[in-house]
Amino acid sequence: MSIRWRLTLWFSLILCGILVLSGVLLHVLLRSYLNNQVDNNLKVYSARIHGTLDPLEIPDTLDFEVIHSRLPPLNEFASPGTYIQLIDRGGNLVWKSDSLGEQELPVNLSLVEAGFAGRAAIETVSAGDQARVRIMVSPLRVNEQVLLLEVAQSLSHIAAAMEQASWALLASILLALALAAVSGAFIVRKTLSPVRQITRTARGIESSSDLGRRVGYTGPADEIGELATTFDRLIEHLDRAFQSQKYFVADASHELRGPLTVIRGNLDLLKRNISQADRRESLRAIEQEMHRMVKIVDDLLVLAEVDSGKSDMHPVNLMDIVEQEVKRAGAVAGGPQVRVGRLEDLVVSGDAHKLRQLLANLVDNAVRYTPASGAVTLSLYREKDLACLEVADTGIGIAAEHLPHIFERFYRADKARSRASGGTGLGLAIVRGIVLQHGGNVAVASEPGRGSTFTVRLKL
Ligand code: ADP
Repeated sequence: MSIRWRLTLWFSLILCGILVLSGVLLHVLLRSYLNNQVDNNLKVYSARIHGTLDPLEIPDTLDFEVIHSRLPPLNEFASPGTYIQLIDRGGNLVWKSDSLGEQELPVNLSLVEAGFAGRAAIETVSAGDQARVRIMVSPLRVNEQVLLLEVAQSLSHIAAAMEQASWALLASILLALALAAVSGAFIVRKTLSPVRQITRTARGIESSSDLGRRVGYTGPADEIGELATTFDRLIEHLDRAFQSQKYFVADASHELRGPLTVIRGNLDLLKRNISQADRRESLRAIEQEMHRMVKIVDDLLVLAEVDSGKSDMHPVNLMDIVEQEVKRAGAVAGGPQVRVGRLEDLVVSGDAHKLRQLLANLVDNAVRYTPASGAVTLSLYREKDLACLEVADTGIGIAAEHLPHIFERFYRADKARSRASGGTGLGLAIVRGIVLQHGGNVAVASEPGRGSTFTVRLKL
């Protein structure tokens, strides 16, 4: 069963329970109120009759004409359904009100006994044909004789009123339920419409493999709105990751195709009858391209490892790494001078092998793009709670339009120069990957013709 119908059903069931409960409560309260009204009426009548008759000086023989004349007028128009009756100890009718006509009030022995025992009592008595009357009895002393005064009211109008009320309640409960179910189903449908939209979009993406589809939710920013926008953001993210993966594979294939073409060409040459000098030249070219391919594949593996997020975090002494790197790069003959600038003893939590690789990539670039007459300076210093690792060179610099892209994979500002000097275009992408893995950041400042400064900031 769909959420829509489940919610509507639960909502209607709970509402039905509440309505039935309040209906029953209303019914009970109304019945008790009407019954109390009747009892109050009976008590008032009884008291009036006692008040009228008790002070009477009635002659020895009972003169009921006198009693009658003193009793409150009682007819069906003035007090509908109200009856008065007097009976003696023998149970004989002494007097009754006109409203009773030919009938008499039904006899109830326990009431009669209670009345003659001197107690006033009220009870509901059946009067045949499903009719019921409420009777109040009280002893009435007339001279030496004790009579029983019965004042009664028919309950048929209460029964009729209660029946009417029950039907009206039932009808209003059913109407309220029907309205609630219809409006509930409508509201739930409207509330869940973004969810259906998300499902449709997800199905569309699944069937067409088109990550360009979006839910495009424009409603209020409630929980469901948040779900829809989060879904869109997720697809956006996947789309971008997918696109960059596609470009990356294309770029990597393109990068590898270059050396492969050179190798294939030289192999074809070697199969022919060529001079020893050409043969040596071809073998040298094949070897060089092989090295390039190995470097590209190595860099791709490092990048994949960095992207996988796996790393061994330990305290790493950055000063040791800087000193080792200066020694390594300084040993390469024919390049610019590699020297140490400001150097502080700083320790960060990280992966020593990757941090060494990060620094080597930055220094290799600096050496690659700086003439032999220039200098590369490595510095390590503290800035608040950050360790700053700086590689500054006096090389060719980077033009402003290239700066935002140099950390992208296979991006080269100067393609020919990068390739010629053995660059793969992956060095800075690896640097950025390692820095992000360590929760730090990397910034670059450069001026064409004057040099560049790369600064890596890591949490101490
Ligand atoms: P590559 O292997 O080509 O050096 P990188 O990702 O390391 O690739 O660098 C990307 C591009 O950034 C390089 O091609 C180069 O144009 C530029 N670059 C990086 N470092 C420097 C630097 N120190 N001086 C000048 N240009 C640089």
